[in-house]
Amino acid sequence: MKKRIILIFAGGIIIGVIMTITVSCLSWRSPALVVREPETPEEARIEYTPPPKPRFSVEFLSKYMPILKTLILPRIEKVTDDIYVALGYALGNVTMIITGEGVVIIDTTESKEAAEEVLKKFRKITDKPIRYIIYTHFHPDHILGTEVFYSEGVEVIATSEFVKWAQSPDRGMGSKYFRRVIATLGGEAEKGYGFSLPVESPYRGQFEDAEVVMPTITFQGKHSFTLGGKRFELFQTSGETEDHLAVWIPDERALHIGDLYYMSFPCLTGLMLEARPVIGWINSLTRFIGMRPDHLLLGHTKTLKGAGLIKEHLTNYREAIRFVYDETMRYIAAGRPVHQATAEIRLPDHLSDLPYLEGLYCRVDWAVRGLYHDYTGWYDGRGTDLISIPPEYRARELVGLSGGADKILARAIELQKNDEHQLCAGLCDVVIAANPGDRLAHIIKAHSMEHLAFGSNNLICIGTYRSAYSIHTKAAAEIE
Ligand SMILES: [Zn+2]
Repeated sequence: MKKRIILIFAGGIIIGVIMTITVSCLSWRSPALVVREPETPEEARIEYTPPPKPRFSVEFLSKYMPILKTLILPRIEKVTDDIYVALGYALGNVTMIITGEGVVIIDTTESKEAAEEVLKKFRKITDKPIRYIIYTHFHPDHILGTEVFYSEGVEVIATSEFVKWAQSPDRGMGSKYFRRVIATLGGEAEKGYGFSLPVESPYRGQFEDAEVVMPTITFQGKHSFTLGGKRFELFQTSGETEDHLAVWIPDERALHIGDLYYMSFPCLTGLMLEARPVIGWINSLTRFIGMRPDHLLLGHTKTLKGAGLIKEHLTNYREAIRFVYDETMRYIAAGRPVHQATAEIRLPDHLSDLPYLEGLYCRVDWAVRGLYHDYTGWYDGRGTDLISIPPEYRARELVGLSGGADKILARAIELQKNDEHQLCAGLCDVVIAANPGDRLAHIIKAHSMEHLAFGSNNLICIGTYRSAYSIHTKAAAEIE
């Protein structure tokens, strides 16, 4: 009896506490995130004379042109009596393997015109029918020329993931977003507003009317076939993408590894895209090294020849990727912020000195940033941006405190004259965030973007700075 009374008493206390909490919760009000909307500053009115048009430096041209030439000079590379690679017709290569009963094509470039030029050259080597087309992965520079090589009865092979990626309405190749990414990286974010470049981009893709020939055979893991006595062993190899595959032709000791190796530090995270399967990339390279190929066929740049050389390149590539991954994880574990990781993580000298690990296409700092964000998410732990308010509010406060847009842009112009273009662009961004209608801020920033493009030794930088130039030039034109 006594026990029962104690239980009822304890139960009463618990119910009381819960009710008190509930009632006090009901009276809670979320504090207002924005109490007052800061005023938009006035448009800048200071005088501005744009800097002279920039030029590529002589050192840059002497270093960059030979590499660019390998990308844009069309030629057919004979790898063995039965294997030929078309390079320089477009951004992506086409590989042809001849067998007793027909031809196998691996990847088809991003352009029908380029594919037609390649097919004409291939037809001078053999008139055997095309029987198979293999896609290494879904990126446009590997699949948009297929119509030219395809005819009824030809088998088109890709992994099952290819279908998902090629057709995803949100992130797939045909999606609006993916097209915008390609346009931005290629320097065409706002067509007709870019500046001219001394050399045309090797990318020849036309997305608007692009038709993807979908695979007739898909697989997961492994798939093999024999044609004219030659065996083709396909296996899934994540890295550049999840749907990626490699092709092993044992009779020739030739291995096609698509985009899992090229002449640059690899894109471990694509700009404006998600981080790539980096551990998968490392594992794929380990597998390739173990196969000891004599010929390493690639999606871009020329074939690597010789088992020793191939092993050396792939081992260094793998070591560089592993190093960047491990270091980034170390910085995350130590609680060091992303900008510190980005500034401090560098490849060791024996790797950074290798021409095929230079940042011609992608860069170590981009890989670090991509991995960092992929593993830590969007929140930085500092409270300010836990719940977002319009970014222009902070900018308007700063512009007001500094004495107005004129003051900030006068400093931006000084920085621009001093070739401090990134800082100049950052100040213009503050003014633009506070008042997107500030025409002068757009114009000053556009000129710094042009200078950054010409001062860069990275293909993606040249494209993306050119795109930023086009965005701000268009914005300025529309304000008039
Ligand atoms: Zn590619």
